[in-house]
Amino acid sequence: MQTSTSTENVDHDVILIGGGIMSATLGTMLKQLQPDWSIAAYERLDAVAQESSDAGNNAGTGHSALCELNYTPQLPDGSIDISKAVSINEELQVSKQFWAFLVENGLIRSPQEFISSVPHMSFVRGEEGVAFLRARYELLRDHPLFEGMEYTEDHAEIADWAPLMIAGRDPAEPIAMTRSEAGTDVNFGSLTRHLFTYLQESGARVHLRHEVRDLTRRADGNWDVALKDAASGERKVASARFVFIGSGGGALKLLQKSGIPEGKGLGGFPVGGRFLRCTNPEVVAEHYAKVYGQEAVGAPPMSVPHLDTRIIDGEQDLLFGPFAGFSPKFLKNGSFMDLPGSVRPGNLIPMLSVAIHNLGLVLYLIGQLIQTPKARIKTLQAFVPAAKLEDWELVTAGQRVQVIKPGTDTRGILQFGTELVHAADGSVAALLGASPGASTAVPVMIELITRCFPEKIDEWRPQLLKLVPSYGQKLADNPELLEDVYASTCAELNLTSDRVEEQLYA
Ligand SMILES: Cc1cc2nc3c(=O)[nH]c(=O)nc-3n(C[C@H](O)[C@H](O)[C@H](O)COP(=O)(O)OP(=O)(O)OC[C@H]3O[C@@H](n4cnc5c(N)ncnc54)[C@H](O)[C@@H]3O)c2cc1C
Repeated sequence: MQTSTSTENVDHDVILIGGGIMSATLGTMLKQLQPDWSIAAYERLDAVAQESSDAGNNAGTGHSALCELNYTPQLPDGSIDISKAVSINEELQVSKQFWAFLVENGLIRSPQEFISSVPHMSFVRGEEGVAFLRARYELLRDHPLFEGMEYTEDHAEIADWAPLMIAGRDPAEPIAMTRSEAGTDVNFGSLTRHLFTYLQESGARVHLRHEVRDLTRRADGNWDVALKDAASGERKVASARFVFIGSGGGALKLLQKSGIPEGKGLGGFPVGGRFLRCTNPEVVAEHYAKVYGQEAVGAPPMSVPHLDTRIIDGEQDLLFGPFAGFSPKFLKNGSFMDLPGSVRPGNLIPMLSVAIHNLGLVLYLIGQLIQTPKARIKTLQAFVPAAKLEDWELVTAGQRVQVIKPGTDTRGILQFGTELVHAADGSVAALLGASPGASTAVPVMIELITRCFPEKIDEWRPQLLKLVPSYGQKLADNPELLEDVYASTCAELNLTSDRVEEQLYA
């Protein structure tokens, strides 16, 4: 991608900080809603989508709760709460509608470069796990968003769905699995690049190797954004009426610099992700699914183990993980000073209290750090009993920065979700946190637009309904709309079960 010639002291309507999926989505949406607004994006690295949004830095799961068991928690009375699963699924349907609109209208091409049909499966072991999955399935099977989900405890059927998971397994072991063919693998890096290409073609200025160093509110209410151009070493200032801090792990620092009261007291805790990647093409070819299991007792939600088919640049890959890593960096290409530099008088106590009160997480991280390659393979063997050490290599994925919020007392609260923070006047907004992440980019950016541009919503509503036909409605409550939307998004995004059949029964 070509860098635009950068200009100093320019006034824009919108500045996007960071070249990840969030800025790309917001920029594209605003171009569709208000084509005459001038948009500039600043990215510190020499290409967009090099941090968490890059395909190799995340798991690529189009999160829809078809397989992620942590979205259907078991309550103390033994019942299972499916409300989060329903809202997560609904959020991906919103994202898919927007992507389908872009493809249908020729704004981005080649959906197969960023989204693929890959079955989503849940996998449990032991009597307790089986009872949980069976009960979860009974609750979801008749829900319109989860239609088509299948369940089995039969080893032979599981061997048919996921042969690697049965070869070498004790035939007497109680196991169960659900399968949904509606699952997807998403290459968020490719999607981000497609969206930035569209943005550039429609007049937005995308400046690479420009790091945002500071944000200051001017007397007229606009924002001055101080930049360093890495190519020339020059310091520059750009201004805008609205600034989006979409700098991923770098967002907390810039939110703090903005000085808005909504950012006060927030802290961040970085957790690195690592995966085992299969290097044996014969093993890779034997599996075509994203299979999510249950996290170990006391482990955080982002540690849920999964065995993942990935489709990256047309190639099929197989990954297992995640294994956590620790580094004080907030970005993969960040600085060791990120964590210490984020400590402020206002967040020191919440951050310390999180360290003290989340001993389970601390012990989990220490355990992960001292894990040997053999121990990692043993974890994998719960999924792939015949896995061999020599067929797998350890690869480093992206950094997640979990948000620490001040609680009502002095305790900090460690958040595992995605957090949208914005100034009361809507002139600046930041996106923090990681999960469910990129899959929810579209609903989260619609939420941002609603909160930051409330006076424009009536004017934008007709176009919003074109971008996302279910805008303002819940698909879960509207089966007819769901059927229409589902059929048209699958057609536009080329999501068919043929590919699944081809792969599995080749
Ligand atoms: C291990 C792992 C697995 C994940 N798995 C999934 C998954 O399966 N499904 C899913 O939906 N989500 C997943 N996620 C979450 C998802 O990757 C993120 O939520 C999403 O990519 C965040 O996008 P972003 O645009 O906010 O940030 P990023 O993609 O990190 O982009 C931020 C950009 O801002 C730039 N930047 C930073 N500071 C500055 C600055 N000062 N000036 C200019 N530019 C700056 C960075 O260089 C970067 O390019 C996963 C994340 C991780 C780490």
